Amino acid sequence: MPELPEVETIVRGLNSVTGARIERIDVFDQRLHLPKSRIAGRTIERIERRGKYIVINLAGGGSLIVHLRMSGRLAVRRSAAEEKHTRFILHLDDGGEIYFINPRRLGTAEYVQDGFPHELGVEPLSSEFTANRLHEIAAGSRAPIKPLLMNQEKIAGLGNIYSSEALWRVKIDPRRAANTLSKSETRRLHRAIQSVLREAIDSAGTTFGYTVSDYKDAYGDYGKFQQMLAVYGREGEECPRCGEGIIRIKQAGRSTYFCPSCQK
Ligand SMILES: [Zn+2]
Repeated sequence: MPELPEVETIVRGLNSVTGARIERIDVFDQRLHLPKSRIAGRTIERIERRGKYIVINLAGGGSLIVHLRMSGRLAVRRSAAEEKHTRFILHLDDGGEIYFINPRRLGTAEYVQDGFPHELGVEPLSSEFTANRLHEIAAGSRAPIKPLLMNQEKIAGLGNIYSSEALWRVKIDPRRAANTLSKSETRRLHRAIQSVLREAIDSAGTTFGYTVSDYKDAYGDYGKFQQMLAVYGREGEECPRCGEGIIRIKQAGRSTYFCPSCQK
């Protein structure tokens, strides 16, 4: 569930621990295979986002790479309700602790000595993501545009929520073959992708529910962008633009929400 804006919000919250030294790591999920001896004693140099990954770079090389998948969280503080789902804790020399909370065990954490081991496409908020670049990506695929936008090897960080919202904003049917989009459509879509992501970051992301599996930032606060969603999660409600009922379909196994009347 966490997409680029949620992960970006978590990373910004975690930046408060930059410069701290990891005194100890406790691992409660042996499937994580984290080399404690390489992590303990190291200083956190920088925490950054790559696509939907959180990268904790350690001084002197090496990084801890976390992907939250559907329901994982990284938190600077714990709350008692989350204790049983904690899979590792970094104990820091400034007294802080970073918790990896992973209720359904879908999230991943790995230590790598060098580089970044996953293939990711262009970052949608970077200067490399231009309207022309998006047009090239679309022109090169006969896949429906929505699953293409969610392909992490093409564009890094977009998921179900923000690809649905961006397509609604520009009135494009998510089922359209990507290579049928005109230059002017990809130019508008490019702008919509960037604006929906920036607005969602400004709102600290989207939280749908209040269970242990729902998104919270690094300090346990909920996102606020759910109030701004036009179509995502709103099956059967009225399209805010034309009043038609919003429908939900499955694309590549994932839910897509859109307005069948004004998205063509
Ligand atoms: Zn509509």
